[in-house]
Amino acid sequence: MALYAELHRHLGGSVVPRVLWRYFQRNQPDLAQPFDHYEAFEDFYTRPRNTLDEYLELHTLVEKVQTDETLPYFIYRLMRGAYVFENLAYLELRYTPYLRTPDHLSQLERIDRMADIVEVVGKASQMIEYPIVTSQILCMHSRLPYEVNKAIVELAAQMKPYVCGIDIAGGDGHYRERLDEYIHLYSYARSLGLNTTGHLYETTAGCYPELLPYLMRIGHGIQIPLLHPELLPQLARQGQCLEVCPTTYLKTGTLESIQQLKVVFDRCFEAGVDIAICTDNAGLHNVRLPFEYENLLTHDIIGFEQLQACQEAAFRHAFAWKHEQRPESILNDILRPELNLVG
Ligand SMILES: [Zn+2]
Repeated sequence: MALYAELHRHLGGSVVPRVLWRYFQRNQPDLAQPFDHYEAFEDFYTRPRNTLDEYLELHTLVEKVQTDETLPYFIYRLMRGAYVFENLAYLELRYTPYLRTPDHLSQLERIDRMADIVEVVGKASQMIEYPIVTSQILCMHSRLPYEVNKAIVELAAQMKPYVCGIDIAGGDGHYRERLDEYIHLYSYARSLGLNTTGHLYETTAGCYPELLPYLMRIGHGIQIPLLHPELLPQLARQGQCLEVCPTTYLKTGTLESIQQLKVVFDRCFEAGVDIAICTDNAGLHNVRLPFEYENLLTHDIIGFEQLQACQEAAFRHAFAWKHEQRPESILNDILRPELNLVG
């Protein structure tokens, strides 16, 4: 069995429609009520949207029900599915902790509650029966004020046993007016020794070369090979990796066809820029990681060797994978030690 590393998955978008539907039926029937039956809900939840903003609105539906009390319920089901159906050995989960705190509290009280959320997520995701190495990426958000985003960076630095990095989310078309602020926050994060990624160059409205020097990985970044291939040698030199999430671009209307990704992969391989293939929102899309891989192969976007290179890149760029080797070779050493003697 091959074992995979997933570097880009949102906690909000990780709930598969069936699990969310059951949760609504059992606990919040008012949210299930507008739909006649499960299929109608699944269709609403997974259908493509016209824009990234419209797509991101769906996250608010899940954020509202993911509280410190309910998170263990969702995370248990997430880990179980990731282990049984996706062969994950490594998973970085990302979310904005502030958005899981009760919204009737003051900003200061909500900031204070964020550490509890990180702890709940951390404890719930470390399950002995599903041996997946997990860590969290805390997302700053373009809708949140500077003070909250700064507190998110500081929390990430204080909770390193649970947190491996920071990110910026909320739609990459919305950073321009406060770009200096984000540059400052990323530079602050680096000074605290934090790993960094950021949702950038996902859409044509989200191209900010000013932020690139602060990022170790780039969330999506597909517009770099598509529109700004002149930046690729610089990315290769700095060892920056793109987190490419194929299904997302079709669900958000960013790309019209998966074929457009061929240029993305070809140009990156040519320039020596690593790509980790990720799901982004496996639940919302109803597409798990092995199917993202298979889709790319069946559409001739990449070949098998390139797929394996991307799978290896995912482990190499994982912020919290502590081993030199991929899990398969570790298993081989244990299960078939005689192979080590050969040669
Ligand atoms: Zn994302």
